[in-house]
Amino acid sequence: MEKIGFYAGSFDPFTNGHLQIVIKAAKCFDKVIVGIAYNSEKEVRIDKNEMKNAIEQTILELGLNNVEVTLYSGLTAIEAKKFNANILIRGLRNGTDYQYEENIAENNEQIFGLDTCYFRAGNLGYLSSSLVMDLRNNGVDITPYVPKHVADLLKK
Ligand code: ADP
Repeated sequence: MEKIGFYAGSFDPFTNGHLQIVIKAAKCFDKVIVGIAYNSEKEVRIDKNEMKNAIEQTILELGLNNVEVTLYSGLTAIEAKKFNANILIRGLRNGTDYQYEENIAENNEQIFGLDTCYFRAGNLGYLSSSLVMDLRNNGVDITPYVPKHVADLLKK
């Protein structure tokens, strides 16, 4: 059976922390789908289609040819099943992430029969999308914290 992982997130924006999780997952799974969650009620900071393109360019340049990117709205587990994913992927930065993720993971297991695999953030655990936006909005260079194609988007 093919091992297909679905890595969901807002990725608003996609950071080097997210990228690190994708790289780790690509080594462990036959295929990884990066799902950019789009929720019409949640304010979007960066255009989702442009973010999708930036992530695609990044994975192409890194030669991660078992990774693809999709945009979706609605329930993550339902979207994951459309891709025949058998596991959900999430990144853990700290105990707060763990508490939050465990609740969602349990729901997905109980209701949809989909287990969750966590990858450690390690030394990139301090990075978050909101930190990157704060830095960028206050004139701090964000190129060390996001992939180049995402930095280009944030310069607009
Ligand atoms: P969400 O709104 O679904 O939490 P995010 O885009 O903030 O979306 O995060 C997506 C996933 O990536 C989550 O599992 C989150 O814990 C993880 N993540 C976020 N930042 C990092 C990081 N710096 N290192 C590792 N994982 C991260």
